Amino acid sequence: MNQDVSSPIVIAGGGTAGWMAAATLGRFAGRKVVLVESDAIGTVGVGEATIPQIRLFNAALGIDEAEFLRETRGTFKLAIEFAGWSGEGSSYLHAFGNVGHGAGILPFQHYWLRARQVGMAGSLSDYCLNDRAARAGKMQMWPPQAGQAAPDMPWAYHFDASLYAGYLRRYAEAHGVERIEGNISKVERDAESGDISALVLDGDRSVEGGFFIDCTGFRSLLLGDTLGVGFDDWSHWLPCDQAVAVPCEAKGHFTPYTRSIARKAGWQWRIPLQHRIGNGHVYSSEFMGEDEATAILLANLDGEPTDEPRVLKFKTGMRSRQWSHNCLALGLASGFMEPLESTSIHLIQSSIARLLQMLPGEAVAPAMRDEFNRQAIFEWSRIRDFLILHYWANGRDGEPFWDRCRAMEIPETLTAKIEAFRASGFIHREHEELFTEQGWLQVLIGQGVMPESYNPIADAMPEAELAAMLARIADSQRKLVHAMPAHAPFLRAYIDPNQTRKTA
Ligand code: FAD
Repeated sequence: MNQDVSSPIVIAGGGTAGWMAAATLGRFAGRKVVLVESDAIGTVGVGEATIPQIRLFNAALGIDEAEFLRETRGTFKLAIEFAGWSGEGSSYLHAFGNVGHGAGILPFQHYWLRARQVGMAGSLSDYCLNDRAARAGKMQMWPPQAGQAAPDMPWAYHFDASLYAGYLRRYAEAHGVERIEGNISKVERDAESGDISALVLDGDRSVEGGFFIDCTGFRSLLLGDTLGVGFDDWSHWLPCDQAVAVPCEAKGHFTPYTRSIARKAGWQWRIPLQHRIGNGHVYSSEFMGEDEATAILLANLDGEPTDEPRVLKFKTGMRSRQWSHNCLALGLASGFMEPLESTSIHLIQSSIARLLQMLPGEAVAPAMRDEFNRQAIFEWSRIRDFLILHYWANGRDGEPFWDRCRAMEIPETLTAKIEAFRASGFIHREHEELFTEQGWLQVLIGQGVMPESYNPIADAMPEAELAAMLARIADSQRKLVHAMPAHAPFLRAYIDPNQTRKTA
C-alpha cells in the first residue's frame, strides 16, 4: 500500500546539521523537504574533525570521495593525538582501527599485558597500524583483492565546515530540497495537539509542515524555546564552557591526525586542512579568562593567524528528549559535547540514520518517538563517559583545573568500566555504544589506567609463541608503513582530477 504523505518536512537552520539532514531526506524521504535559514544569523563555523563513520554517510549519498575532499579542502585523518594529558611532555594516540589482534578467544590486550609483565612487549602503539602511519605522516588505501584481506587502516577526514555545508546544500538542492532565506521570528503550534504547525518568518511569510527538524544551533528555537524541552546539564563532569577559535596559515606538510594538546585549564585543538590549520582553545571560564585563553592559543600556532580569534560559549549536556511532538532536534540544537573526540557531526549523522529507520508518515507514533529518545540517550551518555575519562584520568598534578577533574565523582557507568579494566584488562562494549574496545583501550592506557592483571587464559600461550606473535604484528606493520607514501603527496594525487587514482 502506498502512503500518500503530503505535508512537507521542514528543516529550521542551515548549518552542518541542517544541510546533512536536507541532503539525506532530499535523497531518501520521497516527500517534499524545505529548509529555512538566515544568512544574517550565520552558522557556528567550527566542526572540522570527524570519525570514520562519516564515510558511511557520504557513501550512502553516493558522494565521490575525491570530489568531496577537493571541494571541502579536506585531508585524511587516522587518529587523534593527546599531548600533555598524562603530564607535560606525554603523548599518546587514540587511533582508529585495531590494536594488534586477538588470539583464540581473548582480545589482544591480555596477551600484551602478559608480555609487558615479563618485559617482552613494546608500547601499545607499536601494534596499531593507524598509530604508526599517523606518526610517520603516511597514508595509503588498498583496493580489495580477491582472496587477500586488505590491511585494516580506517580513516576519517578534516574539512572546512562552511565548504562542507555548501557542498551538501548543492547536493540537497539537486535532490529537490527547497531553500527559503529568512529569519524565523515565531513558531506556531496546533492548539489541540501542541504539535508545531508552521514557522513564521519576518515579513509574515509562513512555512507550514507536518514534521519539523530543529537545526537552529545553540538557540534550539523549536525543541527548546517553543516546546520547552529541558536540558540535562553535564558541566559538572565536563567543565569546559568556552572556546576561542582561530585559523592560521598551514606550513609544511599536513599531518593525518588531529592534535589535542592539554593546557592549563583545558586543551587546544589543531586540525590541518589543505589551505589552513583550524585551531581552538577549549577552556573552563572558572579557571581562565578570555584574554589569557586567547594569548595561549595565539602563542601556539603553526603560522600567522588568518582571521580574528572568535569566542564561543557553550554548556555541555543534551536535551532531555531529542524528539518531542512532531519535532526532532539535530546538531547543537539537541545538545553539545566538546569536540575532544570529534563526535558532534557523528551524532548528527547517527540521529539522521535513526530517523530514516523511524520516519513518520502524517502522524508520529509515540512508541517510535520514545524508542528514538531511548537510543539517543544511551548513545550520548556513553560518549559522555568516554570524554569524562580523559579529564578524570589526567596526570597533570598541581594545576587547579586538572586537580579538580581528578577529584570529581564520575558516572557509575564509567566507574564500572574503569574498575573492570583495572582488575583484569576487561573491556565491554555495550549494544550500539560508539567507541570500540580498541578506543577505550588506547585511552585508558594512554591516560595511565593500568590493569593489575589480565585474563589467565593468556598464560596458556607458550612464552616463545607470545614473543613471536608480538614481533610478527609489529614487524608487519613497520614494513607496511615504511612502504606507504607521505600523506600530502598521496592526497594531492588522490584528489587530482587529471590523474588516475593511485590507491595502491
Ligand atoms: P549552526 O552551525 O549554528 O547552524 C544553525 C543554523 O540555524 C544556521 O544556518 C542559522 O542561520 C540558523 N538559524 C538560527 N536561528 C535562526 C532563525 N531565527 N531563523 C532562521 N535561521 C536560523 N563537531 C565535530 O564533529 N568535530 C569538531 O571538530 C567540532 N568542533 C567544534 C568546536 C566548537 C568550539 C564547537 C562549539 C562545536 C564543534 N563541533 C564539532 C560541533 C559542530 O560545530 C556542530 O555539531 C555542527 O557545526 C552543527 O552545527 P549546527 O548546524 O547544529 O548549528
